[in-house]
Amino acid sequence: MKIAVFSTYQYDEEYLNQFNPGHKITYYAVALNEQTAALTKGFEAICIFVNDIVNEEVLHMLKDNGVKLIVLRCAGFNNVDIKAAEELGIPVLRVPAYSPEAVAEHALALILTLNRKTHKAYNRVREGNFSLEKLMGFNLHNRKIAVIGTGNIGRIFCKLLKGFGCELRAYDIYPNQELIDNGVIYGTLEETLKDADIVSLHCPLMDSTRHIINAESLKLFKNGAMLINTSRGGLINTPDVIEALKTGKLGYLGLDVYEQEGKLFFQNLSEDIIQDELIIRLISFPNVLITSHQGFLTKEAMEQIATTTFNNIDAFINHKEMVNRVGV
Ligand code: NAD
Repeated sequence: MKIAVFSTYQYDEEYLNQFNPGHKITYYAVALNEQTAALTKGFEAICIFVNDIVNEEVLHMLKDNGVKLIVLRCAGFNNVDIKAAEELGIPVLRVPAYSPEAVAEHALALILTLNRKTHKAYNRVREGNFSLEKLMGFNLHNRKIAVIGTGNIGRIFCKLLKGFGCELRAYDIYPNQELIDNGVIYGTLEETLKDADIVSLHCPLMDSTRHIINAESLKLFKNGAMLINTSRGGLINTPDVIEALKTGKLGYLGLDVYEQEGKLFFQNLSEDIIQDELIIRLISFPNVLITSHQGFLTKEAMEQIATTTFNNIDAFINHKEMVNRVGV
């Protein structure tokens, strides 16, 4: 098959080439959107990632260009108009679970770094500053953790935090019996957020979850709580979170995703004037740690993404059951 891969970085090319069973692949560094959709002419399949925008307009351009299949190199599919794709007869397949440990462990890395301030200690020691001033942390042992969404990633995250001796509270529309048996206490969103020392978001971005963290839900947070988002930026109302940081309601914020990340993340903008006022405000807080959507970036996850992507393409070509097809 002739496949166009969008939003390509060196690591995508490396892993896709390693597992390519013989397709003709063209790699584009640019993201797919209305401006770049013309590049899909002559390709039967396109392979996209989190910040490629496949709305109705793009889908019509893909259809006109002869694209028959869309494969996502990720789990989330909020960037694709699934209904419009279905109407145009273009199947959309994703990688539903690739090393959920990768993202769960990254959420844990954000927690430990924010708490024990190892990023600050590293810089201090490099400059000959061996002071411990302002490096005070807290024990995770016995702390209450609220997990919003206990699917593949949230479930692993619960297990990791159990290992630290934390008390786990969870909110999910489908509670997980195995977690309940292991002592995780499910409740409503309100019950789960209340009293938690750390809130970690692991639910998908949908209409029902957009801005699930907003001025109202932040009122339920314990004063000085930590909020971690490795899921999707749109789960958080950023101006409301900034306000909560300013008042001290939020004591720590760890983000691997950001609602307007499409214009920023995955690029080196160190010599540019960044126009996004919200991210600049977030970066200015001493208790905010932002990584640019790297939760998935482990060798194991990249291998699984590549193999599942080629299995998805194989299922389409050989009329097998497309088990990873995204439905409306
Ligand atoms: P999943 O589908 O296995 O789990 C999602 C869970 O959320 C499910 O248990 C579901 O019942 C629950 N849920 C759905 N709607 C909900 C609601 N309204 N309220 C509460 N819970 C709800 O997904 P996953 O593999 O665990 O991934 C979770 C999210 O992590 C993805 O949607 C994606 O956005 C994000 N992700 C981020 C990275 C990264 O690199 N940072 C990588 C992979 C995935």
